[in-house]
Amino acid sequence: MKIHNYEITPSENDLNEGAGMFGEPKGKIIEHCKSFVEHTNSSEIVSLIKTLLDIAVVNSIIKDTPVCGYDTDQDTGWGKYFPSGQVVAVDVDENSAPYIMVNIRLFCQIPTQKKLISLVHEMVHVEQFKSKRMQKVSGNIFWLGDNWNEEFNRAQQELIVNDNDQLYRKLPWEVEAYYLENKFEEKLAKIA
Ligand SMILES: [Zn+2]
Repeated sequence: MKIHNYEITPSENDLNEGAGMFGEPKGKIIEHCKSFVEHTNSSEIVSLIKTLLDIAVVNSIIKDTPVCGYDTDQDTGWGKYFPSGQVVAVDVDENSAPYIMVNIRLFCQIPTQKKLISLVHEMVHVEQFKSKRMQKVSGNIFWLGDNWNEEFNRAQQELIVNDNDQLYRKLPWEVEAYYLENKFEEKLAKIA
């Protein structure tokens, strides 16, 4: 069981993109990032994450990937930077090592089957980062060596601001993750 100690400070690139996407001054975004880091590393959130990791099936899917979490009900302004329906997500730290982020409240609310499916989906992204097929370089997303940042940002904006996941699901790493997620769901249905 590993806890990811959230330390990321946004790059100038991230700040410019964030300011454009959310129509907020960069100072406000820095402020929200600081409060998000404090929140994620707080003893309350860390202990909730530890409880989640204690569930054997969760542990067996995520293996040795570090995890951190957040609770949008406690947000002090940063909640709007996250897609409202996203239960689990993957990002990389400054050493390009992937970690899992859990929206704790949403995760606790969904049925067990959905929990497993969402974790399996994210483990596809963990593998994509570990194999370096997907990379994050100076805040830019690369897939198979090509810079997809523009498409990624447009899709993210549609997802977060307009709650529309159509563009997002067409991103090549998502096409793969949804395909494998569906395969897993079919297998689960057979034994359910
Ligand atoms: Zn995904």
